[in-house]
Amino acid sequence: MSATARARGLVLVVEDEPAIADVIRLNLVNAGYGVHVENSGDTALDAVRRFKPAAIILDVGLPGIDGVEICRRLRAAEDWTPVLFVTARDDEVDRVVGLELGADDYVTKPFSPRELVARVTGVLRRVNGTPDAAPRTLGGLTVDTTQRRVFHGDQELTLTATEFDLLAYLIRRPGRVVTREQLLSEVWGYSAVAGTRTVDVHIAQLRAKLGAASPIRTVRGVGYSAE
Ligand code: CA
Repeated sequence: MSATARARGLVLVVEDEPAIADVIRLNLVNAGYGVHVENSGDTALDAVRRFKPAAIILDVGLPGIDGVEICRRLRAAEDWTPVLFVTARDDEVDRVVGLELGADDYVTKPFSPRELVARVTGVLRRVNGTPDAAPRTLGGLTVDTTQRRVFHGDQELTLTATEFDLLAYLIRRPGRVVTREQLLSEVWGYSAVAGTRTVDVHIAQLRAKLGAASPIRTVRGVGYSAE
């Protein structure tokens, strides 16, 4: 079991050249990321909505909508998922940097896969900032993310690592509905292809442990929220 791998999250790779997409995917998987690949701009936006990736590696030159336009549409929709552009030429770099699209970083082809992985890790570290150290409380529950401990009143509850990560993720977003796909991506680092049933199973176990103190509400047909 690897908490590190889960914590690294899902990366959406949008790249139309299969050989390059394969190299990127392999290197990210080896580094502990979950990966989903799309090979056209037209399917990329839908994949962002479905998978809620932790980060997006976006080739600029794509069939259909190009990478720059994908990023522009995401930002216009107030989606600030970190984007790392892959550019083929210097004029593409100028476009990406000059338009202030909210790109988080870029690499230019040919790039070393190791460098790309390091850039993704760096972007995620910057975006996520310093971990939120303050304990969160909701209802009678207190979740201490620094020490990874959960209390109901004075009583400490024993959770598995996955149950803890699930609860912490939900409780940091009180009142917000989180989809099963998002939980798979953020807590497990899987793409939804792996199946969302596993989310339901872990939520059920978590609720059984929390008992009456459980703040988790099922939003039928969508997912869960803590409130
Ligand atoms: Ca391309």
